[in-house]
Amino acid sequence: MIAEVIVDVMSSTTDKIFDYSIPNNLVVEKGHRVVVEFGNRKVEGFVINIKETSTYDLDKLKDIISVRDSQPLLSENMLRLCFFMKKTFYLRQIDVIKLCLPPLIINGKVKDKIVEYISINVDDIPCIKRANKQVELLLYLKENGEVRKDQLLNKFSSTVLKTVLEKNFVKIRKVKENRLPKSSFTLEKKQITLNDQQQKAVDSISNSRYATYLLHGVTGSGKTEVYIECIKKALSRNKTAIMLVPEISLTPQMFARFRNAFGDTVAILHSNLSQGEKFDEWNRLKNKEAKIAIGARSCIFAPLEDIGIIIIDEEHDGSYYSESNPRFHTHEVAKYLAFLNDCPLVLGSATPSIESFYLVKKGEYRLLTLTDRANAKQLPNIEIVDMLLEPRKGNMNIFSYRLIAELENCINNNNQAMIFINRRGFSSFIMCTNCGYVPKCQDCDVSLVYHKEDDLLKCHYCSRRYKKFTKCPKCGSTSIRYGAVGTQRIVDELKKLFNVPIFRLDNDVTRNKNSFGEILEKFNKTSPAILVGTQMIAKGHDFNKVTLVGIVDADVSLHFSDYRAIERTFQLITQVAGRAGRSDKEGKVVLQTYFPRHFAYRYASTYDYNAFYKREINLREVTKFPPFVSMLRVLVISQDSSKAELALKKLYDEIVKLKEIYTSDFVYLYPMKCPKKRIQGNYRYQIMIRINKKNAPIIIPKIYDICDSNKANKVSIFVENEPQNLS
Ligand code: ADP
Ligand code: ZN
Ligand code: ZN
Repeated sequence: MIAEVIVDVMSSTTDKIFDYSIPNNLVVEKGHRVVVEFGNRKVEGFVINIKETSTYDLDKLKDIISVRDSQPLLSENMLRLCFFMKKTFYLRQIDVIKLCLPPLIINGKVKDKIVEYISINVDDIPCIKRANKQVELLLYLKENGEVRKDQLLNKFSSTVLKTVLEKNFVKIRKVKENRLPKSSFTLEKKQITLNDQQQKAVDSISNSRYATYLLHGVTGSGKTEVYIECIKKALSRNKTAIMLVPEISLTPQMFARFRNAFGDTVAILHSNLSQGEKFDEWNRLKNKEAKIAIGARSCIFAPLEDIGIIIIDEEHDGSYYSESNPRFHTHEVAKYLAFLNDCPLVLGSATPSIESFYLVKKGEYRLLTLTDRANAKQLPNIEIVDMLLEPRKGNMNIFSYRLIAELENCINNNNQAMIFINRRGFSSFIMCTNCGYVPKCQDCDVSLVYHKEDDLLKCHYCSRRYKKFTKCPKCGSTSIRYGAVGTQRIVDELKKLFNVPIFRLDNDVTRNKNSFGEILEKFNKTSPAILVGTQMIAKGHDFNKVTLVGIVDADVSLHFSDYRAIERTFQLITQVAGRAGRSDKEGKVVLQTYFPRHFAYRYASTYDYNAFYKREINLREVTKFPPFVSMLRVLVISQDSSKAELALKKLYDEIVKLKEIYTSDFVYLYPMKCPKKRIQGNYRYQIMIRINKKNAPIIIPKIYDICDSNKANKVSIFVENEPQNLS
């Protein structure tokens, strides 16, 4: 028999299928990991097919040397999924296969965790002179039975234990143990009866075969309870389930909630886990001990069979697009996996992405709506504060008088507040603080970005440059503001004003693996208290005592030069606002902005997603942005800027030739430097392309081909289809 093998070799020319013959002494199946000779080396490979014969000279085929694991690592469906991804996202097979396996398997450094249990080995406690500690230990074991070694060592020294072991007074039992990720969060179990809308959603989803549902439910409407119920239904039919959440909303609390509902049948795949924990969680899924996989994007590749439901929570989140190789869209992968398993896919969000809602309108997705909060409380009132007016009232602080008053109120009532500052972004916009004017590109309708190094305003879409101004072109004021305030500064300012515990949550303080959960737990237990944070505090948290949310500078994300900037702002505000008033206490939100009349704020403050969608989808249609066109970015990256420029020019010339054939299909084509021109010594260039949907399936493969056949030495070229992040 012949095996078709994908070898694990880092070179794009080797992303082919190689035939090897299977020697009689080996049992090789589809999906097995094998060792083969490649060139003069021994390498690992994956068997993707078994066949009777080969088109190559059979005598020259090499034998498979050995099989690495007793069971095939990749199921039939996973192999199909890999093939789908290769075709859809133009990926190397081996890169896709590796997504399906935990890194420890690939590196081969797997070690089982062994736990030692100590128990007493004598019937009567011997009389040991001048060794009270030893007697104490034996008495302790006699009373408590078998005790874990690490727990025993909390009470007795290792020398004492060593001595009684040597004397054979105690014995050791070694057990292989799963490294189950622990949650420091404790939650009380609530008995919940679903409301009508929730029940209707559960019924539609659970009785469904392959279909995509968009579960649009306001924050706190009980989407998570719907997920839990749907998963229960799937388990009762002997099926498994996958639930994806954005990395940052997979909080200890969320984790505890699912552990509460499902115990050890849940496996968590999170980047904060140790390699060992990840490996064990993966294995628990693989050998069917666990049936529910919860995790970020790559959890879609969890080794589950008979999947009964796939859920993507916060489906609008940008992290579902993988921005580094292999680049893929999780939604597309999930759809295909749902199709393979003939099961429903549920996309949940309080603020669905414009693209997903568009597909509802087109009839491709089925809409389910939860209109009210589960606690029957109103959504928190969002008060918009016009920051242009503050200086006129004599307030030069970064907090408005309203926010300060509400903070005082919140603290006096022994409640908690969250202060949100969206610091994401690299360079900042510029704005007239008198009239609120922000310069925009004349061609693209996106805000210009100020570049300090050459003192210019630039459009990141078409690379047009504009002179910076010191006098506002609209009102003549010279009061021009740059940049934004960060979390650290906010904490300092708050400390001056309030004498309560203040916690900070951002990328800087959560580098340490556990600190994220620790900070949240401390905050949860403290009141009054204030939590200051970035996006990290925007999602998923369900704190009872938070009654106030302050959004210090809502405009930060509004001025990103990205066609999704407004959508992202709307989403972020709705999400952050959703943190307030989640239990029996009413919530309140103070939103500070220099653009109080911007439609993103207007519709966010009335929680009017539908109106927002209408406005935004019209804008996309008029300006020819997705979902009305296909957007592509060709990224050209090199340590050597002239090599990169040369490659860019060559690619661009080729694409221009393509455009000459499909002139009317190209809406936009332009080469330029990336907004982030240099990252870690790499120069970055891009070609931005927008093409009409109709012929996109013909043109896009041609662009991939152009990039494939114009490889340059020491230059990396990537094609991004519908990129989420345009930095
Ligand atoms: P979402 O995921 O939509 O933000 P959650 O599922 O977290 O909402 O629900 C918000 C809060 O309301 C949670 O504390 C949850 O336990 C509670 N909840 C949800 N559904 C119900 C219900 N039917 N009855 C009582 N409480 C509910
Ligand atoms: Zn002005
Ligand atoms: Zn422009």
